[in-house]
Amino acid sequence: MDMGIAGKRALVCASSKGLGKGCAEALAAEGVDLVLNARTVGPLEETAQKIRDTYGVKVIAVAADITTDEGRAKVLAAAGHVDILVTNAGGPPPGTWSDWDREDFVKALDANMLTPIALMKALLPAMIDQGWGRVVNITSQSVKSPIAALGLSNAARAGLTGYVAGTSRQVAPSGVVINNLLPGIHATDRAVSLDSGVAKAQGISMEQAIEARSAGIPARRYGTAGEFGATCAFMCSQYAGYMIGQNILLDGGSMNATM
Ligand code: NAP
Repeated sequence: MDMGIAGKRALVCASSKGLGKGCAEALAAEGVDLVLNARTVGPLEETAQKIRDTYGVKVIAVAADITTDEGRAKVLAAAGHVDILVTNAGGPPPGTWSDWDREDFVKALDANMLTPIALMKALLPAMIDQGWGRVVNITSQSVKSPIAALGLSNAARAGLTGYVAGTSRQVAPSGVVINNLLPGIHATDRAVSLDSGVAKAQGISMEQAIEARSAGIPARRYGTAGEFGATCAFMCSQYAGYMIGQNILLDGGSMNATM
């Protein structure tokens, strides 16, 4: 299926690895030129070159921390005109409600709420002017179904979700489509770090931790970055024009809810 977005230009944040990389690859496969971002130069350049070689699209790689004012300024200056924005950044660390103080919340809000909002504020005006734009925010299943140990993530991402619910309806008349994509567990470095924590806390092996987690998922496995990216590409496509302010959950059926 041709998504009808060949020749568009996408900024995909936090995209040298994992879910961001999955989104970047799926967009590149549709002929979209890319601006990639991550903090570490080596893996970022490697991903950028692999995508250029595989898909023949133009790729600019910008090493910067997207959660800082300076990092965002650097990325936006290099990006120039952007038709499609995919926001993403690392998730906050796990813990318990009594661990977190104001500074922890400010850090989480900066990374997972205020950064995507700042990027939208910077890029939406040009999308509105041209009458076409797509934004996909990578959030988390924790928005719909809280993960107790990820209280910082639950809080920050819920704030972003509330902002998108209203803003997506304000910009929809101009042909600009904003939605959120909510990952349940996917096989990335983030999952390795979460499973290592569980293995350590429970005195079990990584294999046992993965097996135990998979047993609780109706699909009985972790999602892949490829599946995640394909959904993202659809949400950035010409066919997603009537999908406004939605929260699309990709969790293998983990959340036990009728709707
Ligand atoms: P990942 O495999 O650890 O990859 C994270 C990517 O983001 C890397 O390319 C990393 O590169 C980059 N990055 C991290 N912090 C950054 C920053 N401040 N500025 C720029 N780039 C940054 O993580 P993932 O699994 O793809 O997860 C992506 C997001 O989805 C996270 O917010 C995570 O919490 C959320 N999520 C993931 C899962 C899952 O199961 N994987 C489930 C629910 C939610 P550098 O380190 O070089 O910067």
